[in-house]
Amino acid sequence: MEIITSVKDMQNKVMSLKNQGKTIGFVPTMGFLHEGHLTLVENAREKSDYVAMSIFVNPLQFGPNEDFERYPRDIKRDEQLARQAGVDLLFYPSVEEMYKHNRTFKLSVENKVDILCGSKRPGHFDGVATVLIKLFNIVQPTYAYFGMKDAQQVAVVSSLIDEYNFPIELIPVETVREKDGLAKSSRNVYLTDEERKQAVVIYQSLQLARELIEKGETNPEVVQAAMEEYIKSHSSAVIDYVEIYSFPDLKTLTTLSGLVLIAVAIRFTNVRLIDNMTMEV
Ligand code: AMP
Repeated sequence: MEIITSVKDMQNKVMSLKNQGKTIGFVPTMGFLHEGHLTLVENAREKSDYVAMSIFVNPLQFGPNEDFERYPRDIKRDEQLARQAGVDLLFYPSVEEMYKHNRTFKLSVENKVDILCGSKRPGHFDGVATVLIKLFNIVQPTYAYFGMKDAQQVAVVSSLIDEYNFPIELIPVETVREKDGLAKSSRNVYLTDEERKQAVVIYQSLQLARELIEKGETNPEVVQAAMEEYIKSHSSAVIDYVEIYSFPDLKTLTTLSGLVLIAVAIRFTNVRLIDNMTMEV
């Protein structure tokens, strides 16, 4: 595995791969790797000649009171895991390397962001879109892999690729979970032991939604209320949102039909956790 920290070196490497006609599968991450990330790599290996992963904790996508400074980092461990998983090229730039310019442009995501995490984290998707435009230009991937755990991100990135004409195929990957159903996340390390036990309520509330819908419930408000009630009565977490939309266009539904996204965010003392499920109704 080759490790590259400069944009210029990465561009040279990518150019030489392109000249050899190689396809590049790209897995952008913020590091502190877990099985979720490694599953994206596994998917990328199946389809691409060359697998590139980026590890970059992007300050632009963190709000002023969020966890940029204390976001977990362990590059030595990440290097090992990435190598074992079969990453060919690890792009690990510094913040200074990625944002060396005085910015002339400020990107603003206009659609799909006044709901879910977008409404709770103002500017988050502007930062995500900005860094992805840069990474897509630097890495020039044939395929880009994103986890469905961040379903709103998948929806926004799909529009970004379409609207800015990136010749990239977005490949969404199912959420990888712990044995009890908790979605794997770099932020799970912030949970206390007691909170870790309770955190399974997110997954359980999604399962409850599935059962209700499978039994014929089509009113999103009824499903949402049942989920909120379940979370409140089974944990000490504060609910950030429980929301239901069509997917991937993220439109409000009065009756559940078609492909729907059911998404949850809850907060414990030191951590905010998200999860979701898509289902065809
Ligand atoms: P992050 O490092 O948290 O920015 O995540 C990098 C990529 O890994 C994103 O596309 C995430 O959606 C994806 N990802 C994170 N957690 C999981 C998971 N549990 N299962 C599948 N993909 C995930």
